Amino acid sequence: MFVWGDLMQFHVQETMSKGLKAKVDESIDVTALFEGRSDVISKGPLHVSLQVIGNEGGITVDGELSIDWELACSRCLDPVKEHTVIPFFEQFKPASESDEGESDDEEDDVIAVAGDRLDLKPFVEEALQLFMPFAPLCSDDCKGLCQTCGQNLNEHTCGCKTERIDHRLAVLKDLFKEEQ
Ligand SMILES: [Zn+2]
Ligand SMILES: [Zn+2]
Repeated sequence: MFVWGDLMQFHVQETMSKGLKAKVDESIDVTALFEGRSDVISKGPLHVSLQVIGNEGGITVDGELSIDWELACSRCLDPVKEHTVIPFFEQFKPASESDEGESDDEEDDVIAVAGDRLDLKPFVEEALQLFMPFAPLCSDDCKGLCQTCGQNLNEHTCGCKTERIDHRLAVLKDLFKEEQ
């Protein structure tokens, strides 16, 4: 095989010249990616299922990523189980000297690889981070937390009289305060 002890790495020239077709079927640990994030309660592993095809022009990688994880509800912070499937498609080509200093405008869909080693892991990790659910909810009608006492309003109502203020509006209010 064409690997360095890591099944997600490929020799660029060899993959292209031999027209290699390879399957990547891996589970990778992504714990480190989300370290320190309180909104990601448990994660992974990330299942990577890709087909890697070499041809004269470059290397095409096509497939999908999937992960089961628990994210904090964006309103009440309760854990929300999510199954996320991420389509993955990237094209790579060897970086040539003529590429250097040139803008990438021409072929911005094709990623230039410097050197002979194509490591898919960083691209897979980036795809996961980009695709992360932005504002997961435990349910569409989650009532969230009381702004005053922090009570989870899905469980109990509290005695606070304050009207609920949308976080985004609260930020705006603060801005106006500063300007005055
Ligand atoms: Zn919730
Ligand atoms: Zn309250």
